[in-house]
Amino acid sequence: MKCKRRKNFLLAAGLALLLVLAIQAVVWGEREVPVFGPDSLRQAVLIIDAGHGGEDGGAVSVTGTRESDLNLSVAKRVDALAGFYGVQAVLLRDSDRSLHNEEAQTLHEKKESDLKNRVQTVEETEGAMLLSIHQNSYPDSRYRGAQVFYSNEALSSQWAELTQNLLRAALDQENHRLAKVIPDTIYLMNHITCPALLVECGFLSNPEEALLLESDGYQTKIALSLLAAFLQARAEGVGP
Ligand SMILES: [Zn+2]
Repeated sequence: MKCKRRKNFLLAAGLALLLVLAIQAVVWGEREVPVFGPDSLRQAVLIIDAGHGGEDGGAVSVTGTRESDLNLSVAKRVDALAGFYGVQAVLLRDSDRSLHNEEAQTLHEKKESDLKNRVQTVEETEGAMLLSIHQNSYPDSRYRGAQVFYSNEALSSQWAELTQNLLRAALDQENHRLAKVIPDTIYLMNHITCPALLVECGFLSNPEEALLLESDGYQTKIALSLLAAFLQARAEGVGP
């Protein structure tokens, strides 16, 4: 069964890649075609952060799915696709766990330690570009749509805009959200010095969007959009 799932994933990934490339051709029709040479990709390390994990499940969808699981599923897809393109990528977590030190006891201590460790890995990685993956939630279930946030504006805003545009084109053309500066309350994003995006892929509080976010095909479309935007940003000189 696992093998069949992988086959289906690869098939879906292939189809979605064609879709994204077609969208990209429309969106960037007038621009120069980027060349993704291995040399230019080698200098950057795409750090993929699946938000939350372990006891900290993050938000919960209207159907009971934990944000941390969806974040991990999208993150793994981005990592697999990065491999196809020869992009160096690191997953901060590759299973359902928190990254805290052993000494941490309470949930608060674990969360604090987890975030500090994530910051440390990002800061110690030469050529890091951080892509943090989350899902949104809001008391009013009307709201929907992917939202890109960024920190370190001079390094990140171009990448953020490309990502927001590509998510709009691939997922929902009615989504008029613009990339925004991250609030200063988000610890990880405010303690790193490299180009950094935090992507809220959609709203778990919106029943329709929650169903999409939980589906394999939609997660693959998100992952392809994120990777295509990263490649485009690199081609435009974003990052090291
Ligand atoms: Zn989150």
